[in-house]
Amino acid sequence: MSLANGRLHMALPGPSVMPDAVLQAMQRPAPDIYAPELNELTQGLIRDLRYVAQTDGHAAIYIANGHGAWEAALSNCIAPGETVLVPTTGIFGHGWAEMARSIGAEVEVLEHGRTTPIDPDRVRQALLADGGQKIKAVLAVHTDTSTSVRSDIAALRKVLDEVGHPALLMADCVASLGCEEMRMDAWGVDVLVSASQKGLMVPPGLGFVWFNERAAAVRAAMPRVSGYWDWAPRVEPEIFYQYFGGTAPTHHLWALRVALDMIRAETIEGVWARHRSLARAIWAAVDHWGAPMVLNVANPAHRSCAVTAVRISPPDGDRLREWCSANAGVTLGIGLGMGDKNDPTASGVFRFGHMGHLNATMVLGMLGSVEAGLHALDIPHQSGGVTAAACQISAEVG
Ligand SMILES: *Cc1c(COP(=O)(O)O)cnc(C)c1O
Repeated sequence: MSLANGRLHMALPGPSVMPDAVLQAMQRPAPDIYAPELNELTQGLIRDLRYVAQTDGHAAIYIANGHGAWEAALSNCIAPGETVLVPTTGIFGHGWAEMARSIGAEVEVLEHGRTTPIDPDRVRQALLADGGQKIKAVLAVHTDTSTSVRSDIAALRKVLDEVGHPALLMADCVASLGCEEMRMDAWGVDVLVSASQKGLMVPPGLGFVWFNERAAAVRAAMPRVSGYWDWAPRVEPEIFYQYFGGTAPTHHLWALRVALDMIRAETIEGVWARHRSLARAIWAAVDHWGAPMVLNVANPAHRSCAVTAVRISPPDGDRLREWCSANAGVTLGIGLGMGDKNDPTASGVFRFGHMGHLNATMVLGMLGSVEAGLHALDIPHQSGGVTAAACQISAEVG
């Protein structure tokens, strides 16, 4: 017998759970794209996108996913033959590096493995070794969704300033924006990228790039920027269609309006705090279940509050995911990019996605289903992980 019927829960690190109100906002006929309503809507969205990233800078919206936002950021600042430095903490760092190569950049990768954050001292050494200051940008992934490692972005700004290196600081916040603390201006981020389908709770399809005046000056000095990715007309359009380089993604914009209203109502600090508390409940459960289950990131200070990678004996990661999906109606994330020679298919890794529209009941339900799966599959564990999570939730609420 399966107990999976009922509302299915995707505990994936994106696309994340979409609020009913977001989905309902899209149930409308096509609008007149020449009427003033869409223009006002877009201006309001840009204002609130700035709030979510905590910046007074510019925000450009693309019909794209996170990969598109990566390419957009690079296309505006990096000409073929120019160099970028990419400290990596998982496959998304490597993905951004690959995107930089594909537009003709020279890419210097600083491999950090899969369990530890970006080491500012290694970045410092790389910048100091760059006597000719050829490095034009440092591309840093805030939360690498594959490993659930979170890096300290403000520490990278500090290093750039101390070394006196002019490289731009670019941050990939696809998995972290609208989930964990990000203060673009206070932390000195020059270019920030994100997408609609994770912390922002909207279907995949929108990519976002925020940038400050330093980055705008770099863009202005570029020999050329491809028409679609050029952010300049998008942030200062002479005519409405330039916001989107063509027809506006009308229904996504309505969805985003509702999602940003929800974030505004909770406040961005409230959103960050909720994610932190729910993450701690998940960590408490995994710690309680104990070996062979272990959180991929040992130090809580370096863990994402939006996604958690868990190691277990192969192939129990896959078995557990399959059991939960078939019998309990909850789908967990796969061990993306976590394969190695002992576990080539990463069947001993799974991930909890806990980003966006999520409350304590959803987290406790997910953990309870996982604990049922551990029992059913005879996977070694200490019973009571859900109780540990419940106690944590109670402590968080206070
Ligand atoms: C999901 C994700 C991406 C890629 O986004 P797509 O929308 O799949 O192109 C990039 N970086 C990070 C950190 C992500 O989590």
